Amino acid sequence: MKIPFVDLKAQYQSIKPEIDEAIGKVITETAFIGGKYVKEFEQLFSKYLNINHIVACANGTDSLEILLKASGVAINDEVIVPAVSWISTSEAVSSVGAKPVFVDIDPISYTIDVKLIESKITPQTKAIIPVHLYGNPADMNEIMLIAKKHNLIVIEDCAQSHGAEIDGKMVGTFGDAASFSFYPGKNLGAYGDAGAMATNDSIIAEKIRMIANHGQLEKHKHLIEGRNSRMDGIHAAVLSAKIKYLDAWTNKRIEIADYYSLLLDKLNVKVPFVKNKSKHVFHLYVILTSKRDALKEHLENQGIETAIHYPTALPLLDAYRSEGYKNSDFPIATDFTSKILSLPIYPELTKEMVMYVVENIKKINE
Ligand SMILES: *Cc1c(COP(=O)(O)O)cnc(C)c1O
Repeated sequence: MKIPFVDLKAQYQSIKPEIDEAIGKVITETAFIGGKYVKEFEQLFSKYLNINHIVACANGTDSLEILLKASGVAINDEVIVPAVSWISTSEAVSSVGAKPVFVDIDPISYTIDVKLIESKITPQTKAIIPVHLYGNPADMNEIMLIAKKHNLIVIEDCAQSHGAEIDGKMVGTFGDAASFSFYPGKNLGAYGDAGAMATNDSIIAEKIRMIANHGQLEKHKHLIEGRNSRMDGIHAAVLSAKIKYLDAWTNKRIEIADYYSLLLDKLNVKVPFVKNKSKHVFHLYVILTSKRDALKEHLENQGIETAIHYPTALPLLDAYRSEGYKNSDFPIATDFTSKILSLPIYPELTKEMVMYVVENIKKINE
C-alpha cells in the first residue's frame, strides 16, 4: 500500500464539478484580483468564525506582517512567540523591525508555555503571537489575562487551526486579531497562496484593508503607503466552494486522530493530548518516539510518507544564530523536535490505511 503524507488530488476529485465551475466563472468574468468573489469569501469566512471583519490577503505570512504593522509594532519592540512553529511566526516580527522573543513550549499541549511568558516580558514587549500548533488551541484564556495585565496586543496565528475551538468559541476570536493561511495543504486550502486576517475591531479592520492594498480604500486615494497583498479571485472562489465542507472534513480528521490514538495507545509512542474543553482540528497528527529516525525510515520503506514539523526549534535555526541561543534555553522544544513524527492525516484517509500505518509502527515501537 502507498500512503502519501497529504492527498490534495483525492479532495479535488471529491468536489471536482463545483471547483471547476467556480474557477471557470472567475475566468469568464476575468475577476482575477479582489472583486466580488473575494468579497463573497470574506463574508462566508466571517460568518463561519462569527467575527465582524475578515480581510483577505495574499498569504498567511503577509497577514501576520500586516497585522503587526497595523498594530504599530516596529523597531525596538519585542514580540513573544513560541519556540516551535513554522518560521513565518517569527519572520513576520523581524520583518517589521521588531525582535521575536522565543518562549519554550508546554510539554503536554506543545503550544506556548503560558507559565513562562511573564518572565520574558520587558518594557519593550508589545505583542504576543500564540500559535494553535497542529490545530490544537493554545491556552487563550490565560494568554488574554497576561496580555490584559501587561497591556499587550494579541495576534493569534491560526494558520493550522481553522475551526478549532475552546469552550465552543472559535480560535481567532480571542485576541485583538488573527491570522489565517489558506496554503493548499492547510485544513482550508486554496489552489495557490492565500491568507486572511480576522478581527472584531473596525479600526484595525480598516487599517489592514488599507495596508494590504497600497494604502487605498478607494481607487487612487492612497491615504498611506501600503503594499500589494491581495487575494486572487480564483483562490477566493475555490475557498468559497470548499468552506461548506470544512466542518465535515474536520470531523473526519478528528475521527482519524481518535482512531490512531486508540490503536497507538498500547505502543511505545506518545499520542496527542487534547484538553477537555478544546476542539483540536488535527491539521497534523504528531507522535513522539525516541526511535523517530528509525521509524521514519521504516515507514518510508513500507510506502508510508511521514514528515517532521519541525526538525529544529525556531531559535536554534541558523537564521537566529547571531542571537547565540543554546539548546538548554529551550529544553522542551529541543527534546520535542528530536522525537516528533507527523503521520498522514486527511479526510480521505481510510480506516484500513490508518491500520496499515499502525501495524508498521508496531514493528519498530512495540
Ligand atoms: C502555514 C503557516 C504560516 C504561513 O502561511 P503561508 O500562507 O504559507 O504564508 C504561518 N504560521 C504557521 C503556524 C503556519 O503553519
